[in-house]
Amino acid sequence: MDRGAAANLFSQFSFPKSFDVLVEPEAGFITPEKAIRLYATEAKKNGAIIHSNEKVIEWNKIGNNVTVKTHRHTYHANKLIITAGAWAGKVIPAIADKIKVTRQFVAWIKTRDDKKFALNNFPCWMIADDNKRGCYYGFPLLDTNKFGEPAGLKLAHHFPFQPTDPDNVNRQTTNEDIENLRYCLDNYLPGISDSVLHSKICLYANSPDENFIIDKLPGFEENVFIACGFSGHGFKFASVAGEILADLAIKGKTELPIGFLNAKRFS
Ligand SMILES: Cc1cc2nc3c(=O)[nH]c(=O)nc-3n(C[C@H](O)[C@H](O)[C@H](O)COP(=O)(O)OP(=O)(O)OC[C@H]3O[C@@H](n4cnc5c(N)ncnc54)[C@H](O)[C@@H]3O)c2cc1C
Repeated sequence: MDRGAAANLFSQFSFPKSFDVLVEPEAGFITPEKAIRLYATEAKKNGAIIHSNEKVIEWNKIGNNVTVKTHRHTYHANKLIITAGAWAGKVIPAIADKIKVTRQFVAWIKTRDDKKFALNNFPCWMIADDNKRGCYYGFPLLDTNKFGEPAGLKLAHHFPFQPTDPDNVNRQTTNEDIENLRYCLDNYLPGISDSVLHSKICLYANSPDENFIIDKLPGFEENVFIACGFSGHGFKFASVAGEILADLAIKGKTELPIGFLNAKRFS
């Protein structure tokens, strides 16, 4: 889109002269909590049994079977799918050196004029410039009655930040977090407001090329299937990742083109 037209349409942003603007009218967002509830409900309708809050301590392959020991029980199965997110390296030691877990700061900002940033008046957005690696991104202001807490305009910096141990994360907001946020607000959303209503520290599980790893686990090809290294952009692919994993576990192969996601590409 012409920069002038974009500035008229989205006057909330400051568009530097050197910027190109791309508008994607079909783009949108997913509310993950609702999506996860929906997936879990549908899975249960199809016979899945979900054991929440049950930590896997270890798994082993014995003959052509797999044993999974949790802090409650020991389970035996023929096939095992592992999707442990930021803990993938702990649950699958063979890929531990391929998954870099990073600490990510997310903020919800108070807006001076809520209407200007409301859904339908303000888009999902992403901004990349030459000074910072990765890109800044955010969402429209969402009605907490409909979308839940927290209130405020959500935004963050998509880039693998400080490496961390997923079991020992600094959850305190740092000066660096705030300076980085301020850089984005000052440059691209000037005048929006100066207060952070809420913030959170989350985790990315980054693969070396920031593409996912979805494959049969090397050495355990008949029984164990893995999906990890989603590198901060995996949620929207949850359904297709599930389809691939089900194909691999049930049929031993998938028609979907997953060659570029194979687990051996970094060795
Ligand atoms: C701040 C932030 C913003 C993001 N924004 C986007 C976005 O805009 N778009 C997008 O597509 N993606 C986004 N993502 C990425 C997305 O959330 C992840 O890619 C996705 O959740 C990865 O799914 P997963 O199943 O691999 O891991 P998770 O969703 O982390 O699930 C892993 C699960 O395994 C459990 N687990 C781990 N170890 C064990 C164990 N030993 N025993 C039992 N359970 C265990 C964990 O408790 C967790 O529930 C974002 C992530 C962050 C942190």
